[in-house]
Amino acid sequence: MSTILRTLSLLTSVFLSSASFAQTLSLTFDDGLNPDTQVHAQVWNEEILSSLKDAGITAMVFPSLARIGGDKGMELIMDWAKAGHAVGNHTSTHRSLASAQLTLADFIADVEEADAALRHVPTWLPMLRFPYLKEGDTLEKRDGIRSWMRSNGYKPASVSIDASDWYYNQIYSALSRDGSHDKAARVKSAYIEHLLDRASYYDGLAKQVLGRSPSHVMLLHTNELNAASLPDIVAAFRVHGWVFVSPQTAFDDPIYASQPDTLPAGESLIWASAKAHGVPGLRYPAEDSVYEEPRLRSEALLP
Ligand SMILES: [Zn+2]
Repeated sequence: MSTILRTLSLLTSVFLSSASFAQTLSLTFDDGLNPDTQVHAQVWNEEILSSLKDAGITAMVFPSLARIGGDKGMELIMDWAKAGHAVGNHTSTHRSLASAQLTLADFIADVEEADAALRHVPTWLPMLRFPYLKEGDTLEKRDGIRSWMRSNGYKPASVSIDASDWYYNQIYSALSRDGSHDKAARVKSAYIEHLLDRASYYDGLAKQVLGRSPSHVMLLHTNELNAASLPDIVAAFRVHGWVFVSPQTAFDDPIYASQPDTLPAGESLIWASAKAHGVPGLRYPAEDSVYEEPRLRSEALLP
């Protein structure tokens, strides 16, 4: 008996020590798919959901009403809810709060419109994912939306790991459409390396600024490339020692309650915290196609 207990205790301590050193990661998917404009919307949606199920991962989706179109797009979001994934708010028209043309009042109306359309979803959570991760170009807009969120029971759905999956998706889609399947496969490999690289970068920046590795939230989109790559993405992260948790677990990390004092506000929360701490050499925007294009061009992978 005592041997069994000793073994159990040893196993528990090994598990706890490895768990405390593991980097944890959760997956969030923005925008949603539109069957009225994307012929393969339903197939891609099913592929992403079945890959998450096979991997035993609970994720979260942030639909924008303009991106999902009408009822058919909403049905695809309901499929996420039926599979147990939480659903949040990514506004109605997907406009940037950093745009000088968009007022705070119009942005709030945009958030409220999406709220009214999505609130009935069974796994709904009042969490706002800012389009383009832009939280406002002025103090009035930034603090105005923060105040609106507090008064309306909303939490910001910040990300810690930002990336350019949308750009890799553009290239991958164009190559696939052209029948350049060999090049498309190489873009997929480059994309997975890019995600690992960005995760490692933001984790390193977090350790520098917070002194620890937080529970990470990664920004992805519901797109063709992620539909094709998700099993490989999950496998690659697991090989590199990452452990997947649900976004709801990750958002419990106190870092997601922090609101860094930066302007223009937004980007990855780790980036914004680093900016507020005066870390030198941060690029702006933090992620963009311009950083990825030279590599793909040099490897002759652009369509
Ligand atoms: Zn978006």
